[in-house]
Amino acid sequence: MKEFCGVWLLLAGFCAAAAAVLTLCLTARAQMPDTVGRTLTEEERAGIVERNSPLTGYVYLSPNADFPREDTIQKVTIHHMAGDLTLEDLGASFAQRDRRASANYAIDGAGRVGLYVEECNRAWTSSNPANDSLAVTIEVANDEIGGEWHVSDAAYETLLDLCEDVCRRNGIEALRYTGDETGNLTLHSMFSSDTECPGPYLTGRMEEIAAEVNSRLSRG
Ligand SMILES: [Zn+2]
Repeated sequence: MKEFCGVWLLLAGFCAAAAAVLTLCLTARAQMPDTVGRTLTEEERAGIVERNSPLTGYVYLSPNADFPREDTIQKVTIHHMAGDLTLEDLGASFAQRDRRASANYAIDGAGRVGLYVEECNRAWTSSNPANDSLAVTIEVANDEIGGEWHVSDAAYETLLDLCEDVCRRNGIEALRYTGDETGNLTLHSMFSSDTECPGPYLTGRMEEIAAEVNSRLSRG
C-alpha cells in the first residue's frame, strides 16, 4: 500500500511539473508577436517601421528578446559587429535561438539600417539586462577586422543619424558619455570584461558622437 501511494505521489508531482512548464511556454509564446522569426508582408513591414526608426531599410525580427521591455528608453548603447556582415546575414544569425543574442538595430558598411528587435522590446545585446531594458542597442559593421575595428564613414554617418532619431522619438534631450555606465551613451565593454566591443575606433569617438548628436538635437 505504501509503495502504491508513493507511485501515485510521484506521478502527481510529474504532472504538476509538466503543467508548470507548459504554462510557462504558452505564456512566453503569447508575449512573442507573430511577426517574429519569419518573412514579413510589405504591409507588416511598413507597420513595424512606422513605430520604429524611419531610417530602417531591412526588417527581420529576432526571437532573442524580452517582449515587451520593462523600462522606458533612456539610453543608447553602441556595439560593433566584430565583422562585416550584411543585414540579411545578421538577421539569420539573430534568428538562431541558441545564439541568445540580438540587437535593436544594426548598420552595415554601406550605412543601411536593419531592425531586429522593435524598440518596445528588450534586445539581448550588452551582457546586461538592466542596461538593455533602458537602451536602444545598435551594432555597427567593421571594415577592419581586429586592430582598431574601424567602421566605414557611411556607417559612422548613419550611426549619428540613428542616434539623433532615437533620441528625438524617445524624448532623450541629450547624450552624456561619461566613459562608464553612469552616462546614457553606453558601450558593451562597460558591462563585460570579456569584450572590447565596440573596439578602439568607435570607443575613441564617443565624445564626438555625443557632441554632434547633441548639437543637432539643440537645433530642434
Ligand atoms: Zn557588443
